[in-house]
Order: sequence, then C-alpha cells, then structure tokens
Amino acid sequence: MNSRTPLIAGNWKMYKTNTEAVETAGRLVELVADTSDVDIMIAPVFTALDPVAKVIKDSRVGLGAQNLYWEKEGAYTGEISADMIVSAGCRYVIIGHSERRQYFGETDETVNKRIKAAIAADLIPVFCIGETESERESGKTFSVLDKQVKDGLKERVVDELGPLVIAYEPVWAIGTGKTATSDQAQEAHKYIRSLVNDVFGAAMADSVRILYGGSVKPANVSELMAMPDIDGALVGGASLDAESFSQIVKF
Ligand code: PEP
Repeated sequence: MNSRTPLIAGNWKMYKTNTEAVETAGRLVELVADTSDVDIMIAPVFTALDPVAKVIKDSRVGLGAQNLYWEKEGAYTGEISADMIVSAGCRYVIIGHSERRQYFGETDETVNKRIKAAIAADLIPVFCIGETESERESGKTFSVLDKQVKDGLKERVVDELGPLVIAYEPVWAIGTGKTATSDQAQEAHKYIRSLVNDVFGAAMADSVRILYGGSVKPANVSELMAMPDIDGALVGGASLDAESFSQIVKF
C-alpha cells in the first residue's frame, strides 16, 4: 500500500446550466458525506464555479476549473486567470486535457505555462497526458508520454514535494466506452512515475498522484484502483450523474 490519498475527479466538460450544476453538486455532497480517505473534485464550466462553490462549501467535495490562462490579467478576451478561478473557490485546475489539445491548439509549451501559473497561484494542477489510438498502434505510446511529461514539466515547474497531479488519459479511451485494461493502464502509470523520477527525483515520484481517465465507470473503477500506480480517476461522462459518480468515489 502506498501513502498517496486517492483522488476521484469529475470533469463536467461543457455540460450543465447553473441550475443543473447546483442540483448535481448538492446531491453529490449528500451521497459522499460518509466517505473518508479519498479526495473528491468536480470541475464544472466557469460560469457555474461560483454557485457550485457555495453548495459544496464545508463538504467532502473540492472545486476545480477546466482550464486557465497563464497571464495574470489583461486584454485577453475570453480567457480566465489563475487568481480568478481561485477567487471563485477553486483548489484544482485541469490542464492540457486532450480536448483542449485537439480542438483549441494547446501544446506542451502552453500547457507548461499553464502549469506554472497554477502552481504560482497555489492551485493543484491536474496535468493531462495520453497517446492517440494511432500513436499506440504504431508503438509510440512511451515516446509520446515521455515528450508530454518532460515538456509539460519543463524547468522543474514544481518543488520536490509540490502538489502535482497527473492524469493519464489515452485519447482513444475518452468518451468512447473503450477503457484501457488495468494492465495497460498500470504499465503506462509505472512508466510515467519513472519519468517523474527522472525530472524530480524519488520523493516526488513517490508522492505524485497519477489518475487514470478514459471511460471510468462504477463497473470498472475497482479493478483499475487495485493497480499499484493508479491513484485515482479523472471521470468525464460518468461524473455528470451524482449517483454514478458517488459509486466511483466509493470504489
Ligand atoms: C475525460 O473527459 O477526462 C474523460 C476521461 O471522459 P470519459 O470518462 O467520458 O471517457
């Protein structure tokens, strides 16, 4: 058994109006009130952060944003800064999600800037990496992960025991219903931990939480969580429903 507290994180993507978000968050608070030894996070859309923060205040559920921009403020129409999401009640921020990389042109370089801004604002970055289906099929999984981790964490973005979370999300498993087998996920997680060891050393490699993401559901979470290097889950679809997300939390 390792000493890493599991983290179960829900990414609500571009779903839920404020009324719906508040209702789901309120239900989740009730359903997970009796849990312990697990950290829980939900990431609603930006406009729902403030009302959701009020509902989950003093509960087991923490708040995350789905992105941030690295500048502190300025003429950057449509963007939001680290301090702004902190002021809305966030403790976590998802960075470099594959949908951001795929549809919004994010690169390892811009991901690196975002991670640095998150750390500077005392946020816990949930740094997403993962290979596409064609990269896996052509045997490039490890080299892709190697580049994403080393470029994303370039210039030693966090201190030795900083609050870094990494989410391994094979792109072919996100929203597709296909899940990596627990052995495939464990193999990737072990490799990612070895990369963190290369960049930051053993203490950080031992303490960093590495979440698995990609069609996690109540039915497959316990098998994944039984793996020694899987420290939690980043959940999309199944986090939108308070009942199913709470079952995942109680893996
Ligand atoms: C995600 O959005 O990070 C994700 C893993 O989605 P899903 O659980 O729906 O595959």
